[in-house]
Amino acid sequence: MSVTPYYRQTNRSILRADPLEALLANAALLLDAQGCALDLVPQRGAPEGLILGWGMPLSDARQLVRWLRGRLDREARGDPVVLMVPAEQWPPSVARLGAPNDGEAVALRLADGVGSMGWLMGIGISGMTARSALAIPRQRAAILGQLTAQARAQLELRALREQRDQLESIFRFSGDGILTVDADLRITACNPALEQLLSWRAKDMQGRFYYDILRPEDPQGEPLGLARCPLVEAFATGSPVVAREMVIRSRDGQRIHVAVTTAAVYSDEGQVMSGVMNVRDVSRQHAQEVLTSNVVSVVSHELQTPIAIIKGYASTLSRPEAMRDEEGLRRRLGAIEEEADRLSHMVSNLLYASRIQAGGLAMEPAPLDVGVVLKSCVRRFRARGIRHTLRLRCPANLPLVMADRERIEEVVANLLDNAAKYAPQSRAISIEGHFTGEAVIVSVTDTGPGIPLRDQAHVFDRFRRLGDNADAQTGGAGLGLYICQAIVHAHGGQIWVESEVGRGSTFSFSLPRMEKAAVPMVIG
Ligand code: ADP
Repeated sequence: MSVTPYYRQTNRSILRADPLEALLANAALLLDAQGCALDLVPQRGAPEGLILGWGMPLSDARQLVRWLRGRLDREARGDPVVLMVPAEQWPPSVARLGAPNDGEAVALRLADGVGSMGWLMGIGISGMTARSALAIPRQRAAILGQLTAQARAQLELRALREQRDQLESIFRFSGDGILTVDADLRITACNPALEQLLSWRAKDMQGRFYYDILRPEDPQGEPLGLARCPLVEAFATGSPVVAREMVIRSRDGQRIHVAVTTAAVYSDEGQVMSGVMNVRDVSRQHAQEVLTSNVVSVVSHELQTPIAIIKGYASTLSRPEAMRDEEGLRRRLGAIEEEADRLSHMVSNLLYASRIQAGGLAMEPAPLDVGVVLKSCVRRFRARGIRHTLRLRCPANLPLVMADRERIEEVVANLLDNAAKYAPQSRAISIEGHFTGEAVIVSVTDTGPGIPLRDQAHVFDRFRRLGDNADAQTGGAGLGLYICQAIVHAHGGQIWVESEVGRGSTFSFSLPRMEKAAVPMVIG
């Protein structure tokens, strides 16, 4: 096995090496040894020490250390210790490290005023130089003391570097945003997670006043004011502020709900030097909370309205004189029936939604002519006496799809209902069927108020009601389009909206042509 002795290493490679390795190379030079190992004890509560080799592979250095440690435990007393071991006594694994010139190994205790650092070990000690240098106790102590101090400094430097690297990777890869500021609250650094959250580049934020960048507000939307800012609070009180909920602004002005934890960093003299702020995006949880409370209010309103109307009519009808007014009786019974239908529609939508969530709503697909479905939906819609005019355009040669007729009828009916409900001013609703090489497409178009672009992606969300509709001027719990989407997706199709505010909306869905359809289908 070939080992490169230290003296064949060029000066350049020694210079390039880790400082501890360079130190070890110099020690080898001093000892005139063929190979050297440093066996450093753990420092300052570190779980492990460090073994380094020079002139031999690390595995051999470890072997040498293990072997010499065993001997030292038994034989080494006093301080410092020089242990000479004739080559004949070396175990084969250590002898394999290289042919020693005069067959000796040496172990020197590394210690200084601060304490013990471990051992410097060498093999293949050849020259008398080393022996004579080490023979004079004061010289030996000076050399080893210097080596120890350097090793200690290098070890500490290493530990600091490791710590810095760890902190750097936490900073870079943390899922939470991290911001640091100087004592004047000017931004000094910002990690990629926060860059992404705020749509700001770190370099554009650097040096700027943090309040101007984040524009913090309390959860109710009131500007926080500098005094109530968690960083200022941490600076003033000296205690960290933990998980404070607030709203900050992205570069383009979007409001982001966050939970912020801040702490001040002090100098040895107790002066505030800088501050750190951890920013956790809680907008999803916040949206979920808002959604839940909306759901409760919308659903209870939607259930309560028909119940109240039914109850009102029923108590009127229970009066004896009600029987005498035949016209009034018919009208009220009609209204009760209508409200009961509304109630039942609402309850079945809720059931539907919960079954979709549980992933257990099965389809019964069969070859289906969508044109026939559209005609029957239009007939039913007209029969309800709704004042909108409904125009149907559909080619006679529409290809068949594999679909559950009842479910597809529900989708079409829902889109027609919405067009009538949300576009009351719109006189005409048009429903159109057409096809491509892949799919049959149905579109329902109204000329109503339209849907703003930012809301278009959300209209298919569960319990989502937009703008003015959310205040329950029109009935509905925001389940219709969610159910439509689940049904269409279960058929392998797509559903989408194209809309322009003030001009109207077109809701379309596609169903794969029969030969392209994948069965069976389950909503989930
Ligand atoms: P809802 O039960 O509230 O009608 P939907 O899921 O059917 O729920 O619709 C979700 C929201 O999408 C509605 O509250 C409404 O704001 C909007 N929306 C749906 N269809 C239209 C349309 N044709 N024109 C304008 N807005 C619509």
